Amino acid sequence: MDEFVNRYSRQLLFWPEGIVSQKKLGSKTVTIIGVGALGTALANHLVRAGIGELRIVDRDIVEESNLQRQMLFDEQDSRDHIPKAVAAKQKLSSINSHVKILHFIEDVNASNIESIVTGSDLILDGTDNMMVRFLINDISIKLDIPWIYGGVVHSRGMTTTIIPNKTPCFRCLFPIADIGHGDTCDTVGVLSTVVHIIASYQATEAFKLLIENDESIRKEMVQLDVWNNDYDEFPFQNTLNESCPCCQKRKFEFLETDRTNHLISALCGRDSIQVTPMKGTVEININEIFKRWKKLGKVEKTPYLLRFTYEHYQLSLFENGRLLVQGTTEPMIAKRLYSTLVGE
Ligand SMILES: [Zn+2]
Repeated sequence: MDEFVNRYSRQLLFWPEGIVSQKKLGSKTVTIIGVGALGTALANHLVRAGIGELRIVDRDIVEESNLQRQMLFDEQDSRDHIPKAVAAKQKLSSINSHVKILHFIEDVNASNIESIVTGSDLILDGTDNMMVRFLINDISIKLDIPWIYGGVVHSRGMTTTIIPNKTPCFRCLFPIADIGHGDTCDTVGVLSTVVHIIASYQATEAFKLLIENDESIRKEMVQLDVWNNDYDEFPFQNTLNESCPCCQKRKFEFLETDRTNHLISALCGRDSIQVTPMKGTVEININEIFKRWKKLGKVEKTPYLLRFTYEHYQLSLFENGRLLVQGTTEPMIAKRLYSTLVGE
């Protein structure tokens, strides 16, 4: 038996069209935005199943508190401060070397999402951030790429599949006014099992889309609570909003935000602020900055970033100019540190 048939033998028996389905899967490109809890479980399923190309995007570094649920990472990744996108790629490549994997150590925003996802057949939501989901929704409708929403918090999870021109879009389903009032993983925690349940629903829908088994695609939003034994399905019918700015009027408000300023964002519950220069606005020479910072204090250089202890803040500077400031929730402090230590 050749290696291809052997590797996928149990799956070939399952697919409706056997090797034809497998070859369809192997010709497809998927982008996963965020490789944390949901994203690592999603990537694990897709890479083992043998998709053609996987693009993974994540801005964070592996931390010890991730290991409870983020299945591709281990203690060494956390000790070495490896970016999640890199650690995930290393592990995934050792699982299935036939899958082409591209990684992006980036904060997804209006200035870079289009170049990251262009050419994808599907986008999977592995984020924990509603603003990023609206951005994914905009690019999905604009470029006609389906995406699968997944959200988990505490023991609850939710998922739905958005197919441009076929289903209501995310903005039809969720009014923007609801953002920011709910519980988050940082305030109420998350059970690892609900992560895997929702990721498995997302990955299953992904397989149906990728092998073009359209009749089995779910037409409901699923919401469940694994601890309290609740399960609900909400049919899509009647949820299309005829005045939806995104899918009806094709006005992409989240893609069209101002791209000239730095984005300054507080990282929920983590005593950290991130400063993200918009693509093309900053030229960073990390070696120059390393030399400069060595004169000011203790600085460590890894292949991916500089880590610097300054005043009482822990700074991480990535090659694309993004700065993570740990030890404050004050945007003005992060802005000051950026202009004194990085530039502008
Ligand atoms: Zn819509």
